[in-house]
Amino acid sequence: MPIDLIEKLKSANIIGRGGAEYPAWKKWIAVRDAAKKPKYVICNASERELATAKDFHILESMPEMVFRGMELAMDCIDAKEGIFNLNGDYERNLKKNLDRLVKEASEQGRKYTIKIFEEDPSYIGGEETALLNAMEGRRCEPRLKPPFPTDAGLFGCPTLIHNVETFYDIARVADGTYDGKRFYTISGEGDHNGVYHLPADWTIEQILKETGNVPKQDFFVQAGGGASGTVWNQKQIKTQIARGSGAIVIHLTSEDPKKILLHWVEFFARESCGKCTPCREGTYQLLELLREKKSKTIPWRQMEPILDVLEKTSFCALGRSVPVPIRSYLKNVLQYP
Ligand code: SF4
Repeated sequence: MPIDLIEKLKSANIIGRGGAEYPAWKKWIAVRDAAKKPKYVICNASERELATAKDFHILESMPEMVFRGMELAMDCIDAKEGIFNLNGDYERNLKKNLDRLVKEASEQGRKYTIKIFEEDPSYIGGEETALLNAMEGRRCEPRLKPPFPTDAGLFGCPTLIHNVETFYDIARVADGTYDGKRFYTISGEGDHNGVYHLPADWTIEQILKETGNVPKQDFFVQAGGGASGTVWNQKQIKTQIARGSGAIVIHLTSEDPKKILLHWVEFFARESCGKCTPCREGTYQLLELLREKKSKTIPWRQMEPILDVLEKTSFCALGRSVPVPIRSYLKNVLQYP
């Protein structure tokens, strides 16, 4: 059965929904075939990307499916322990239900246990190697890769880490009910904000029309995350969300550009773990430039070399993501040369 399931994951093209979009079946094979023991399965419910609430929605309404996905993975790779990483902000709403599922799993005489790890608030805690460090009681910052967690994850052992939505999809593939949909979180200036489950290959335009979220005024969207997502103007929304969390944030074109930029940069500066200089100093310098009160204009020329350094030399995806919303906003909405 487990081998069949790996084949099914491959045919259904199940990919990681935490942002990396790596094929799930490749991770399963790597961990299953790793010689070292014990092996671990981790469900990552960190979800700290701005404007993203799909994992919360899944865990609030269908947590059994997520646990089923974890259990299938543990069976397949022969893991004795599963760990559920819970975003600390979700604890009040979700913990009781998750505790019940952990208890049920242990009472059913299975050969493994699932426990809950409550993560301290930090965006970088969602990065899988930073999460592993936090779970081991170390400083929550990313590790150098390789080795990848599939070879040397928690306490140096092979570890399979998936996002909540990925485990949900896995359970649906196993049940034969997977229908090629993904979860989108829509927020901002539309009339019907919320989490929607719609075909993964739909364009942003299709999603906005289907959910009644096309604004009457001129607008643009940020897609793939409320901080790191790419910005598209109104004429460009016949595109799919290529990567990221499935978030779509709708902005009116009339919004103050400086306010929008500050919203992103304040987030990155706050969430930078401080491990590498380009990100630690670069986000701070961008913040200083944008907070300069004497000038109302945006200092693009001074920002550009900082963005360049962030993109080319940051240690992890957080720092490398900073230029994505800023540059796409500049090019696609402000149409700066
Ligand atoms: S890029 Fe930022 S978040 Fe990533 S390691 Fe460097 S300082 Fe930390």
